[in-house]
Amino acid sequence: MWVNQEQHPMHSYAQNQYVLYDRLIHEFKAFLEERLMRIEQEAGHALQQVNAGISGSGLSDEEISEHLQVYTAQGKMSEVDTCCICLGEYEKKEKMGRLECGHRFHAECIKRWLLSKNVCPMCMSTALTV
Ligand SMILES: [Zn+2]
Ligand SMILES: [Zn+2]
Repeated sequence: MWVNQEQHPMHSYAQNQYVLYDRLIHEFKAFLEERLMRIEQEAGHALQQVNAGISGSGLSDEEISEHLQVYTAQGKMSEVDTCCICLGEYEKKEKMGRLECGHRFHAECIKRWLLSKNVCPMCMSTALTV
């Protein structure tokens, strides 16, 4: 090395740029984290309101497991639609739940839904007669 790196002006310039860049990334990350926190708070608040509005008309765990028709999805060829609760596609061998109206959802999604409301999220008819 023909020059002492500690005293080379180009080196400290690059280092300053790096520090600046690093700080920008940190500020951007903090900004995103703050936004995300606020979105989560708002979503949590909205969910609380929804739950408060529909509380008292759900089923118990026992009633759901006793009356919900659960079966296994046979694959995408026969299960081409998506679950309207989580908007996810039905994957092969996934547990499905069918309501009395004939509408079907992921078993886990519809179980969670039925805990707060005994109504089909698609057609609003009574989900399960208990
Ligand atoms: Zn789902
Ligand atoms: Zn339905």
